[in-house]
Order: sequence, then C-alpha cells, then structure tokens
Amino acid sequence: MKDSGSNELPILVFATHNANKALEVQKMLGDAYRIQTLSDIGCHEEIAETASDLKGNALIKAKHVSDAYGLDCFADDTGLEVDALGGAPGVRTARYAGEQADAEANMKKLLGALSGVKLENRSARFRTVICMVRKGEVKYVEGTCEGRIALSQSGVKGFGYDPVFCPDGESTTFAEMPALAKNEISHRGKAIRLMVGELLAKS
Ligand code: IMP
Repeated sequence: MKDSGSNELPILVFATHNANKALEVQKMLGDAYRIQTLSDIGCHEEIAETASDLKGNALIKAKHVSDAYGLDCFADDTGLEVDALGGAPGVRTARYAGEQADAEANMKKLLGALSGVKLENRSARFRTVICMVRKGEVKYVEGTCEGRIALSQSGVKGFGYDPVFCPDGESTTFAEMPALAKNEISHRGKAIRLMVGELLAKS
C-alpha cells in the first residue's frame, strides 16, 4: 500500500491492517487520495472496540488515528443482526463465541442458537457502518444486506459467517458466490461505494 500513488496526494488512512481491503478502496478512489493502512502510518497499538454499537466502534477507531496522528481517516465496523435472537450477535459478531473465537466456533454457536427455528423465521442482516473523520468533521455512511441464516453451512469462499448467510434474492450462501458478485450486493460493498461517492464529490 505504502508506495502506491504520488506523495502529493491527500492522505486518507483506512483504520485497518488489511492491505487488500485498503487496495480495493484505493482502486475506487483513483488518484484523488492516497490510502494508507494503520501499518503504513506506524500505528501498531491495539485499538479497543469498547462501544455498545457499530457506530461507536467505527468512531473510536477513526478518532484514534485523527487525534494521535493528525491524519484524516475512516474506519468500518460490521455486525450480523439475527431477528430471532433479538438482533444478536450485533456488535459482538467477531467475538460471539468468545474473545478468541474463530469463524467456525462463531458459526457453530449461531446455528446452535437457532436450532429448531424454521427457515422463514431466520431473517438477518449484515450491517456495515463507516465513520469518516476529515479536518475534524465526523460523518457516517451505512450499508446493509438483508438475508437469512441457512440451516447448515454451505460453500468455502469468503470469510466469517459467509457459509451460513443467504442474501435475499439468492438461493446460495455468500460462501458459494464469486467475490465480485458478493461485493455488488454486500453491506460492505454498499457502504464503501457510498463513502467513495462522498469523497469524490468533495475532492
Ligand atoms: P469487521 O468489523 O469487518 O471486523 O467484522 C466483524 C465480524 O463480522 C468479522 O469478524 C466477521 O466474522 C463478520 N463479518 C464481517 N463482514 C462479513 C462478511 O462479509 N461475511 C461474513 N462475515 C462477515
């Protein structure tokens, strides 16, 4: 990420260590901004996500970078909301089965919690909130993807809860879809396109 683009361009930090996520946004922004990751700016500390909702966690991450490094920044936070579970796991999506839980453990816990619940009652959505802090101004954009939790896992593509999430209008899980097709309809794809639209309109 670090060496892409000209040094003249305004820097925008994506509060992530994932260079692939950052590259995806860089491609969409062209030469309007130079995206840097947390690693690129030397931010190696763990930013504790202690808020009670997605918006709060995205704000904590973006504000940490803008306050400590004086750089414009955006951060994303994603949650899976299952209606039959009163909106859980929600803000605890990454840590649903415990602080160190992996995707397999999280999916196992989710399928267990929904055991006996019929397909028509397994409605759910992924929600991504992005917080942008630019020149001290805080803004949010949000993307959602409605769907349902499958009765069992299918597919091997993607990550996280992809093998158990069937988006509305599709007969397969996210984990059975090509990455580009998922990106077209996914919560994160929608939120990032909204953010890029805002940034390009103002640059
Ligand atoms: P994060 O905010 O991007 O770290 O996402 C929080 C958690 O939500 C991750 O640990 C994943 O388990 C899950 N997650 C986020 N986006 C997706 C997705 O597109 N598919 C499946 N799981 C996801």
